Amino acid sequence: PAPEGNEHVLAWLEAHKGGFGHFIDGRFTDPSASKSFKVANPADGKPLAQVAHGTAQDIDKAVAAAGRAFKGWSKLPGHERAKYLYAIARNIQKRDRFLAVLETMDNGKPIRETRDIDMPLVARHFYHHAGWAELLESEFPGYRPVGVCGQIIPWNFPLLMLAWKIAPALAAGNTVVLKPAEQTPLTALAFAEICREVGLPAGVVNIVTGEGDTGAALVAHEGVQKIAFTGSTDVGRVIRTATAGSGKKLSLELGGKSPFIVFDDADLDSAVEGLVDAIWFNQGEVCCAGSRLLVQEGIAEKLYAKVRARMETLRVGSPLDKSTDIGAVVSTEQLERITALVAKGKEEGAEVFQPSSIQVPGTGTFFAPTLMTGVEPASTVAVVEIFGPVLVAMTFRTPDEAVALANNTRFGLAASIWSENINRSLDVAARLKAGVIWINATNLFDAAAGFGGYRESGFGREGGREGLYEYLADDGAKAKGKEAAK
Ligand code: ADP
Repeated sequence: PAPEGNEHVLAWLEAHKGGFGHFIDGRFTDPSASKSFKVANPADGKPLAQVAHGTAQDIDKAVAAAGRAFKGWSKLPGHERAKYLYAIARNIQKRDRFLAVLETMDNGKPIRETRDIDMPLVARHFYHHAGWAELLESEFPGYRPVGVCGQIIPWNFPLLMLAWKIAPALAAGNTVVLKPAEQTPLTALAFAEICREVGLPAGVVNIVTGEGDTGAALVAHEGVQKIAFTGSTDVGRVIRTATAGSGKKLSLELGGKSPFIVFDDADLDSAVEGLVDAIWFNQGEVCCAGSRLLVQEGIAEKLYAKVRARMETLRVGSPLDKSTDIGAVVSTEQLERITALVAKGKEEGAEVFQPSSIQVPGTGTFFAPTLMTGVEPASTVAVVEIFGPVLVAMTFRTPDEAVALANNTRFGLAASIWSENINRSLDVAARLKAGVIWINATNLFDAAAGFGGYRESGFGREGGREGLYEYLADDGAKAKGKEAAK
């Protein structure tokens, strides 16, 4: 099918109205043979597809297929594996309109973002890792692939999180069983078709759809040598316990409550645009969202006034409309959670602002952009990850206070610093406990830069050279070291 436009997505969904099976060993299983669940468009509540709910048996079949495929795939020279990764990257570019529309319908995020941010980053991730596959033997002598990787991803960047997981795994010579989030499995299923189209050997990538129990079966499976998980801190904790003592390699990318620090010498207009990207990008459903605004006391009221004025111009509405800034939240559960947390903040004494100009659509799971000021550092909304378009603001007086406030969190994923004084920015940056730090910028991602957190934000890095270590076993390198030491 031609890879363009909404009508092609509708035709694709129509062609699969009998339901989607799992993608195992290079083929789709029969959907009618499985338990299944419904996937809906959060912007209007309408059903999109019926998707198989994977059982422990399905996981077992997929792991067996990945195990068989590993024998051949891991033996290919890196430059041979690179060819497939390049082909996948090109195929994603060829279909980027189709994939962007499908992602937007499944998740609720604005088409402007899926088209201009998600899909280009997805393609870039595969191109980048094709390069690593070519360089593997020379850059990582003595390392070998880990084996079969179980990968579990969330719903906020469905195809991008798939790319972050699958591209490095394949580049390093591993095979994969991936479980997409139950809210947003559709682009992963479209990706399975891409794997088939580029002739990726059967079993190298397997996609099993399902819910938490499907993920748990994957985590528990003895044929899996590595688990890579992105999702909530609570489930991350469960997975850490479940894999303890199993010998499985583990990486976790979990929650955050990232500070966005504005000093009194910052370019305030730039900082306001930064805030739009930090917390109103992707409805604030971003693990590294700049969700805690820390502002120097003397400029706080001036900055809040600018933020409120900018909020009035944001457009909330149909995700498929190219002028929409904020689309639908992923699900009713998520909407209820955000609503309850904002109510809690009010109860705890915060002042809540929502733009008077914004009318959220009557149907669908929409939430207006929200600013909470006068927030106490120990209050619930200052501490808990909201994962919605809600910014909480607090003030500080000195750089030391800013650092203390910024680090006063269970998380440590990202941070953003705004100041025209580079010495001050670099000094503060070095004292922040966060995996990624941006200066006069926010939410910038690149396939070449390792991403990941400290503390309850998880461990392990994704992207670049650091990310590849997560998919390589180092016993070969250690053995070589021992040889050299003799
Ligand atoms: P969120 O709160 O962002 O939905 P979750 O952590 O609940 O994040 O879900 C992220 C992914 O983890 C999803 O694919 C989900 O199905 C999966 N998952 C949920 N519970 C478990 C579990 N106990 N073991 C493994 N995977 C799970």
